[in-house]
Amino acid sequence: MKRKINKIIIHCSATTPSMDVDANTIDEWHKQRGWSGIGYHFFIKRDGKIEFGRPLDQSGAHTKGHNQNSIGVCYAGGVDSKMCPEDNRTSEQIASFLLLLRFLKNTFPKATIHGHRDFSPKACPSFDATKEYKGL
Ligand SMILES: [Zn+2]
Repeated sequence: MKRKINKIIIHCSATTPSMDVDANTIDEWHKQRGWSGIGYHFFIKRDGKIEFGRPLDQSGAHTKGHNQNSIGVCYAGGVDSKMCPEDNRTSEQIASFLLLLRFLKNTFPKATIHGHRDFSPKACPSFDATKEYKGL
């Protein structure tokens, strides 16, 4: 792979728990914004299923100023019914995150794990990813 990976950046889809969005949904949303398609490399559905988004050898479109050398991972959820930030990951999503992040850290040992909010004044991904995955 030509791209150097030094960061893994976590996002939420900012959708409510009742919305069963998947990588295809995000792909359509991002195309509507005029992008070439889903800006994340991986997507974790409410049921924990891990889906592929943009190919890993292509830069993502998820964190301004940090796309070139990062991998973007997004999960479905992150806001409550009033659209306020909420860590509402399902136990299946929490398990899938660990599986995927361990795999990615194994593949890219120098990469550090962050939340989108480490780079931008946003709530995304609605939990402290840097702290939670510090030990991986
Ligand atoms: Zn984000």
